[in-house]
Amino acid sequence: MIVSNYKLNPWKIIEHGWDPNKIMESESIFSIGNGTMGQRANFEEDFSGKTLQGSYIAGVYYPDKTKVGWWKNGYPEYFAKVVNAPSWIGISILIDDIPVDLNKVYKIETFERILDMKNGLYERSINFKTNEYLNVEISSRRFLSMKRKSVGAISYTIKCSRDVKITVSPYIDFDVSNNDSNWDEKFWDIKEKINTQNRSLVKCSVKKTDFNVITYMKADLYDDDIKIEKPFQRKSNSKKILLESRQSLKKGHTLRVVKFGGYVTSMSNDWNKIENETNEILKLLENISFENLYQEHIQEWSKIWKQSDIKIIGDIKSQQAIRFNIFHLNQTYRGDNPNLNFGPKGFTGEKYGGSTYWDTEAYCIPFCLGTKSPEVTLNLLNFRYRQLDKAIDNAKKLGFKNGAALFPMVTMNGEECHNEWEITFEEIHRNNAIAYAIFNYTRYTGDSGYLLDRGIQVLVGICRFWAQRVSYSDKKKKYVILGVTGPNEYENNINNNWYTNYSTKWCFDFTLNTINLVKKNTPESFNKLSKMLDFKESEKDHWLKISKNIYLNENKELSIFVQQDGFFDKELNEIDKLDYSERPLNQNWSWDRILRSPYIKQADVLQGIYFFEDKFDIESIKSNYEFYQKFTVHESSLSPCIHSIIACKLGKTKSAYDFFKRASRLDLDDYNNEVDEGLHITSMAGSWLTIVEGFAGMRIKKNSLNFTPQIPKDWEELMFNITFRGNVYKIKVNNSFFQCSLNLNQKCHIYVNNKKLKFDENMKASISI
Ligand code: BGC
Repeated sequence: MIVSNYKLNPWKIIEHGWDPNKIMESESIFSIGNGTMGQRANFEEDFSGKTLQGSYIAGVYYPDKTKVGWWKNGYPEYFAKVVNAPSWIGISILIDDIPVDLNKVYKIETFERILDMKNGLYERSINFKTNEYLNVEISSRRFLSMKRKSVGAISYTIKCSRDVKITVSPYIDFDVSNNDSNWDEKFWDIKEKINTQNRSLVKCSVKKTDFNVITYMKADLYDDDIKIEKPFQRKSNSKKILLESRQSLKKGHTLRVVKFGGYVTSMSNDWNKIENETNEILKLLENISFENLYQEHIQEWSKIWKQSDIKIIGDIKSQQAIRFNIFHLNQTYRGDNPNLNFGPKGFTGEKYGGSTYWDTEAYCIPFCLGTKSPEVTLNLLNFRYRQLDKAIDNAKKLGFKNGAALFPMVTMNGEECHNEWEITFEEIHRNNAIAYAIFNYTRYTGDSGYLLDRGIQVLVGICRFWAQRVSYSDKKKKYVILGVTGPNEYENNINNNWYTNYSTKWCFDFTLNTINLVKKNTPESFNKLSKMLDFKESEKDHWLKISKNIYLNENKELSIFVQQDGFFDKELNEIDKLDYSERPLNQNWSWDRILRSPYIKQADVLQGIYFFEDKFDIESIKSNYEFYQKFTVHESSLSPCIHSIIACKLGKTKSAYDFFKRASRLDLDDYNNEVDEGLHITSMAGSWLTIVEGFAGMRIKKNSLNFTPQIPKDWEELMFNITFRGNVYKIKVNNSFFQCSLNLNQKCHIYVNNKKLKFDENMKASISI
């Protein structure tokens, strides 16, 4: 049984009690971010126990030379690593000359962390003894401003049970490194350190790239709310730049450190620009209090929650989980910077390097479509569009030509960048998720502007890639796709992964329809596009031929699609025969054993069924679901949500609910035993999808939204807002009724279980289900 470390609360994550073995897990869970920067919940005071120190700046990475055994042509040259940035949060404390280090203090009486998700605040309070006679209370409140991208704030208080001498030193630690560096290199060049009365700056650049960063801090000290004038001596050593203050603290008095800090970055060598910007921020911080900054910050959070909150009445576990997921998604990506994207671990760890994966298109875009304005998704689509040239270069490096585009599986700037060939690079199915996102945006928003202008260029590049990547099998008299890895990363270099083949077929069909549409409706722009892309009619014929003749392997006896050509040669032992102690397999089995086993890391055939559900009848969905779920171990966080949505479609609400719990509480309950490395941010979008597309059963059909709601029996009521075609709909479902009200004008229809909703004059409608 999974036992959570955290208390149940609808808006908070609460940890009670000191457990030195769980520090890294909680550092991940309590991470905070504001879309531009983020940090793990490392302690402010020094700590010598096990910890993963992590402060990250969105989009700032180091191109770490790839590490592979035998180099082969086509391998990515570097693995982009989100750089662990200088940390501005540190505050060293000495009490009667003894350092405060929770790993070493005499006794910890109480320890509590709270993540207040409603207000975006991370709090910590500790009561400990440094010796038998001295009791110390420390509490800290910390947030990264949602209003001011470069500003973080800490209010840190210390209180002692007798008079003490105390040394308080707020600092910036610039001696940072990445745990996952390939060659144990340091990624930063430290250029200059500047210390003044109550401010410190560190100017540094990321090696090999042009990222220039100023890390700044400003600190003030208060004794029982009375500001201490000029309290600091300037100090610095080879690792830290610090401001030191020695004070006498009376029994019962509170010493408060208010510390602001953050980063100002530039992609060019323009130090003047970022210095001026930093000075402006510091000036502002002279005149604004912690409380005022906090008030602005919570107003931003309240706007976010207004648009994206989900209420689940009757099930506090699910309620807490879904808010935890929505909270972290919003901390990771705000949608206002076209150069940024969702990293699978957001700002909570180093794994996956802060890069962009297919996760964005397959999981995060639907979340953004439903909870944010369409411009946010457009930014994500344009992110790929701007990288089309690089995708063409990526394909060229592998020998493809004529504008064939292979988008990277892992990227920062459009270049492919990771250490893995079979698992990652061969997942060329990613091209199709990118095409699918263009389709999804268009049908969801009703805006075909992007598709007909930019999207079509992306689609043509993708189809040109597939047209050259398929091979014609004389034996099968079909086009086949050889040597790929499907979404299931527990099978590599396989042939005819059904998901890849099917989504490729879909890609050709969607592109051909789009081309025909442009040709018919706006012949002029078609001619312009054709010229620009050097597009020939013969390409269309060839694509159609491949689409009609692509090999889609079926097992007629079982009425299922076959995951890949070799799947039925495996020993098909179902997972319920596996000993639980062997799970997760990737932590207990050799890679060799995993690769030849029938166990499926994540939805694969079912991923295809999820994307293209309306192309399959219910019997086919059922037989595929029932077959493949017997082998799926869900060791990718992206998996249980897809199973849950399909289970809902099949009316298997109980299984859907179990999968939902696994998806939404994956990190809170650490199902895969890896939360210490960071959170699974992109799969959190999958939990949102499970509620909206699974339990509420939302589907989009032309100009209408359709719902087939069925919610778990514990849920008294489910409520959420959904943005669709410029309208915001408030949806309320319980097991006997469905209610909907609209903001703005009604521009599309809503059907519930195929019955059209009729709105009254207050733009409200409800129906019994
Ligand atoms: C999954 C991939 C995913 C990646 C990043 C892997 O474990 O198998 O599908 O893109 O994580 O989330």
